[in-house]
Amino acid sequence: MEMPDPDVVVVGGGNAGYCAAHAAAERGRRVLVLEKAPRQHSGGNSYFTLGSIRFVHNGIDDLLQILEPDERHVHTEVPPYAAAEFLSDLERVTEGRGDKALANVVVEGSRDAIGWLHALGLRFRLMYDRQANVGPDGSFVFWGGSHVSTVDGGSGLMADHERTASRLGVQVRYDCAVTDLIAEDGAIVGVRVGDRRVSAESVVIASGGFEANPRWRQRYLGDGWQHAKVRGTPYNTGDLIDAALKIGAGRGGDWSTCHSVPWDASYPQNESNRALTNRLSRYGYPLGILVNRRGRRFVDEGADFRNYTYAKYGKLILEQPGSVAFQVFDATSRSMLQGYEYEMPGIVPMVADDLRELALAMDVDVEEFVQTVCEFNASIDTGQPLDPTVKDGRSASVKPVKSNWSSAIESPPYYAYPVTCGISFTFGGLRGDIDGRVLTSSGSPITGLFACGEALGGLFSGNYPTGAGLIAGAVMGRRVGSCV
Ligand SMILES: Cc1cc2nc3c(=O)[nH]c(=O)nc-3n(C[C@H](O)[C@H](O)[C@H](O)COP(=O)(O)OP(=O)(O)OC[C@H]3O[C@@H](n4cnc5c(N)ncnc54)[C@H](O)[C@@H]3O)c2cc1C
Repeated sequence: MEMPDPDVVVVGGGNAGYCAAHAAAERGRRVLVLEKAPRQHSGGNSYFTLGSIRFVHNGIDDLLQILEPDERHVHTEVPPYAAAEFLSDLERVTEGRGDKALANVVVEGSRDAIGWLHALGLRFRLMYDRQANVGPDGSFVFWGGSHVSTVDGGSGLMADHERTASRLGVQVRYDCAVTDLIAEDGAIVGVRVGDRRVSAESVVIASGGFEANPRWRQRYLGDGWQHAKVRGTPYNTGDLIDAALKIGAGRGGDWSTCHSVPWDASYPQNESNRALTNRLSRYGYPLGILVNRRGRRFVDEGADFRNYTYAKYGKLILEQPGSVAFQVFDATSRSMLQGYEYEMPGIVPMVADDLRELALAMDVDVEEFVQTVCEFNASIDTGQPLDPTVKDGRSASVKPVKSNWSSAIESPPYYAYPVTCGISFTFGGLRGDIDGRVLTSSGSPITGLFACGEALGGLFSGNYPTGAGLIAGAVMGRRVGSCV
């Protein structure tokens, strides 16, 4: 395979890598993207996303500048999302453990990055299907801070990136696993692809985290994590993080936590499934209850909107006996679930007209389960009306408490959906500065070496607000591309 020596090598063709590549190519740099996956499996985790992207904006009039036309826009209300709100969402969900300088840069650069991507040819839409409620007059009211996605989700995002890269003259080589970094006199001067050498002035590590490496998961996230299901690409095994650490790069961010979600436990092909991707997610738990094999609840399903809890609940499920739990609904709450997830082709819920029958079908402790449901039903504050569009305070005062959206499980048939832990990406990566320069553990920059996207640690810890991964990759990729 012909391998030109470029100015800049970008390792990894996901959203962050392409943002770095576009920004560098716009400055006249000769850019080569080296991608480990064959073309038909390329796009990294970015391909598997819904394309949901969180950024600061000023409401619908502002958004119209970047949205594809849609006749619903005239009947749509999108609350502005201010920088202070984005920062406080990050601060709250990470419990203050994220890198504040990095968070500031991502938040402050987010609107501008979207405008830049739009000008480059990326297409955006409002997420009517997932983030809006329909008001009594038929208008659409958005909620949850993350309102916009790319057109056609992750596959559309990556098709747009590839088209843009080709127009800007970026070279891309698939099936090209970078195996090492080449350092000379303390500076990075290229990479190795097996026994081939590719020289470059700058190398950008945009090769994701280590979520698809079961050994590293067990080592850094803890015992049991080797059994988590990989939601996205199987190619993010931390190769370049490892190579960078070996030449003295520091570790950045929280290596002990990750993004992991409630995920279908019974579909046979429930890992790295490019056709079903997000349809295997099970995010309807705020409307029901979640029980383990003992028939007991173990989490506040209604602690917050799913946008702010889903990324930490995978871990709690992993910790349950057998790393399995069941989302339980009755006919009323079942009818409010997203068909995209709960009517996935091949989905196998347990259905019964009686709670005992349902417990038997789930193979959970029957007496405990019936008691759990009865106590839950009896403890609901029915004085508050159920309203999924706001945190309605309709709580169930059992242990653990359910803070919002509590609705009695009383109208048969009853449904149970088995879920397990699906890992999306790891939060730990390389240590970097606010321009993505990779730093040693003592904090000095390594000449010629940059990182962005999941490979750059620091932004998230323990939890994550939806749509923050793509925007972090876009802002930091763009910043890196303007430095290399
Ligand atoms: C199912 C799922 C849904 C998600 N939904 C959303 C969402 O809607 N919105 C959001 O903001 N975030 C979402 N995320 C998180 C999001 O995917 C990531 O934050 C983002 O895509 C990371 O981009 P990246 O470019 O850093 O990594 P990736 O997109 O994973 O790209 C890394 C690339 O590096 C390549 N690579 C790895 N090792 C090597 C090597 N040795 N040599 C060469 N190439 C290599 C990989 O093959 C891959 O193509 C989701 C994640 C998953 C798994």
